[in-house]
Amino acid sequence: SLIIFFKGLSFHFSLIKSGKKENNYKINLGKIISNFLSWVLLQSGIQKLRPTKREEELVWSHLFMFYGFLALLITTTAVFIHQDLGIKIYQGNTYLALTLLSDLFGGLFILGCLIAIYRRYVVKPDRLHSQSGDIYFLSILLLLLFQGFILEALRIKATNDPWALFSPVGYLFSLFFWPLSVSAAEKIHYIFWWFHTATVFAFIALIPYTKAFHLIASAVNAALVPPENKRKTIRSMPDLEELLSSEDSLEEEVSLGAESTSDLTWKQLLDLEACTSCGRCQDVCPAYKAHKPLSPKWLMLDLRNQAMLAHLNKESQNTSLLNKLNRSLVTYYLESTSGLDINLKDKKVSVKENGSFRGKNTEVQHNLKKLTFNPTSSIASELINEDTFWVCTSCRACVENCPVGINQLDIITEVRRGLALMQGKVPSEAQQTLRALELRGNPYGPAEDRTSWLEGLDAKILQDGETVDYLYWVGCVCSYDKRKQKIARALVKILNSANINFGILGTREKCTGDPARRLGEENLFQTLAKQNIDLLNKINYKYILTTCPHCYHIFKNEYPSVAKNNFNNKVIHHTQLIAKLIKDNKIKVKKDFFEKVTFHDPCYLGRYNNIFREPRQCLTAQGAELVEMNRSFEQSMCCGAGGGNYWMDIKIGERVNVIRTKEALETGAKTVATACPFCHQMMEDGVKILEKDLAVLDIAEIVAENIAV
Ligand code: SF4
Ligand code: SF4
Repeated sequence: SLIIFFKGLSFHFSLIKSGKKENNYKINLGKIISNFLSWVLLQSGIQKLRPTKREEELVWSHLFMFYGFLALLITTTAVFIHQDLGIKIYQGNTYLALTLLSDLFGGLFILGCLIAIYRRYVVKPDRLHSQSGDIYFLSILLLLLFQGFILEALRIKATNDPWALFSPVGYLFSLFFWPLSVSAAEKIHYIFWWFHTATVFAFIALIPYTKAFHLIASAVNAALVPPENKRKTIRSMPDLEELLSSEDSLEEEVSLGAESTSDLTWKQLLDLEACTSCGRCQDVCPAYKAHKPLSPKWLMLDLRNQAMLAHLNKESQNTSLLNKLNRSLVTYYLESTSGLDINLKDKKVSVKENGSFRGKNTEVQHNLKKLTFNPTSSIASELINEDTFWVCTSCRACVENCPVGINQLDIITEVRRGLALMQGKVPSEAQQTLRALELRGNPYGPAEDRTSWLEGLDAKILQDGETVDYLYWVGCVCSYDKRKQKIARALVKILNSANINFGILGTREKCTGDPARRLGEENLFQTLAKQNIDLLNKINYKYILTTCPHCYHIFKNEYPSVAKNNFNNKVIHHTQLIAKLIKDNKIKVKKDFFEKVTFHDPCYLGRYNNIFREPRQCLTAQGAELVEMNRSFEQSMCCGAGGGNYWMDIKIGERVNVIRTKEALETGAKTVATACPFCHQMMEDGVKILEKDLAVLDIAEIVAENIAV
């Protein structure tokens, strides 16, 4: 049993080891231990779903199963140490405590399995797809648990145990055996013990080849989750200008991004292996909700299957019996978890007729083109529909909700980079934006028009060497878009009312490069980032002030990895500054804004940077009645603009912004407040499409309108 177990484990291990090096990942033992305690032992990934009250019973079911498993593992280990190693620990009070613990938790374990079966086969939520491997896993767990309780019942009967009540569930089971004599109970116990032991060994042997493998892969992956700030930052790349002009690049072929699964790093492969197919990521994905061809769950599973098939192929030269068995069991694993039909001999793989249902989103149904045994098959050309990667809004809801710490967005971004940098494939509308960024440093128009929004307002245009408290980075949308210019004007009005020492860069300001980075055009991003950092380094500022959460995020979290010299990345979002000005009485606002208002959390402000409180404080300080949408704070739904989708219109499925606007309308609010010019545009478009009466205003506009004179 252990030989088969370790053979299977070594297959998974060698697959992960075959991944590319992780340049940005540092093994930190302290972090691994704290991750293990938090993600694995305290099940924080599962627990954090609680505040949303989503599927409460499922959280309990998983907790019962996990802690039940843990309690039984502890007791079995104690029995092993006591009986097989001869160290007498399973006696006295320890015996009674462990017996009670394993008995009660064993009972909860059964309850957890039954809830899971009920959810999977009766409730059938869209996010769960059920394959033969699921019922096998739950059945073998139940079989082992019932066997354990029957054994305990027979033991109680055979020994007439005076402490039987310390096994309350086992005792209840023993009542079924009341007609048995003591010697009959002893004999049945002996036979049954062997049967149970054989089942346990079979279970152990098959762990790497069944859903039970997630017990190992998910725990390891969760323990290796990078620090939170790294998880929120896009994977940094080497300086491409240097790399592409180096002599090595002339001699060797440079590979950028991920074109095939052989380009993935060991951590990305571990992410794929760790996926439990729970579908929580799919459930919160705005693209999936809007019937676009993306399910982060299926993307992880398809890429895992591809990576495993390619690895199977690599190992096919070894024809020893153990290897043959391993290959058959790996094939079974893939077939029983993803509904595949694999012919190892002919190297053919297809999706089974009855295994093809991927969920209610019919676009996802068709986004897998094929799987191969070839490690260099192109992910976005040969295997998976290319649109899958472009419809992602980079909202991070999937990453935030994955209970085992998988970073789906990292893999999507790497595939985009592979498409953009290696194949020059970017959707045509996005190409126009990128071209404009390259030519004039912004997606809108001539640089000299950048300050037209300022007309009639008092704002200093900063020169090199000047000192200022707040350097207001206006951003392209608020500089050029007529409607969004009102946001910038409102903010300047607030700053002047509070006598804030601030200035702007005027026509020298350029795009931060955010659209280029999200669209995979890292080269262009790095060029713009370097130019902006050089410019910023010429001004002495305390804080960069932004009205755009994308600019905020990129200065705070992404420019530091590009900056060669010191770079002051202290940045403040306008809602943070306004909340502070109100709190410190630097501006006085009328308290009679008695409207019902709902606030839409922008992904790059909330989920990415944990700024949830301040925008709401700005509203309630004016007397607004704040009502929350069903999905808010960390669980807020994206407006649909992120990930470069603002700059392209992939006409598949519904519009994400319309879905979000409907959620805002459901609150009965008269105004939806935003704190991002992109969200503002998306919500306003949503209101227009739905022809509803809902005002869309930025927080700066609401406050500027309510300043008491
Ligand atoms: S980042 Fe958002 S849009 Fe992209 S896959 Fe994850 S949940 Fe879906
Ligand atoms: S990626 Fe995470 S959330 Fe998504 S299905 Fe896999 S384990 Fe579940």
